[in-house]
Amino acid sequence: MSADCLFCKIVAGDIPSTEVFRDGRVMAFEDIHPAAPQHILVVPLEHVGMLASATERHEALIGHMVIVADGIAAERGVQNSGYRLTVNQGTDSGQEVEHLHLHITGGRKLGPIA
Ligand code: 5GP
Ligand code: ZN
Repeated sequence: MSADCLFCKIVAGDIPSTEVFRDGRVMAFEDIHPAAPQHILVVPLEHVGMLASATERHEALIGHMVIVADGIAAERGVQNSGYRLTVNQGTDSGQEVEHLHLHITGGRKLGPIA
């Protein structure tokens, strides 16, 4: 846990969230400002600051995040209609929270990737 990290506090339950999934490695919760009818964030329980700070040690964890995300998309009924997984990395992407997270967005026709 990183003391000043918003998503570490959400993982710890110190900041409330609408949790939709948790196992021993990852947690998923509703984005507070949804950009689509379905907008869920998948985060590792361990603090990983950003994609740039991930190493080979995190390969299985990041793969697990993707598989969990697809399962959530299926549960939410958007696996067949389609959805998008997004990782923001750094300033130009608009990354706001420095705890690695996968955005799942879906439930409407998504525009082209900027
Ligand atoms: P980023 O821009 O870092 O990729 O995405 C951060 C996301 O976290 C944003 O979509 C934002 O709406 C969401 N977010 C920021 N603060 C909170 C919060 O306190 N709770 C929840 N559930 N989502 C948050
Ligand atoms: Zn963190």
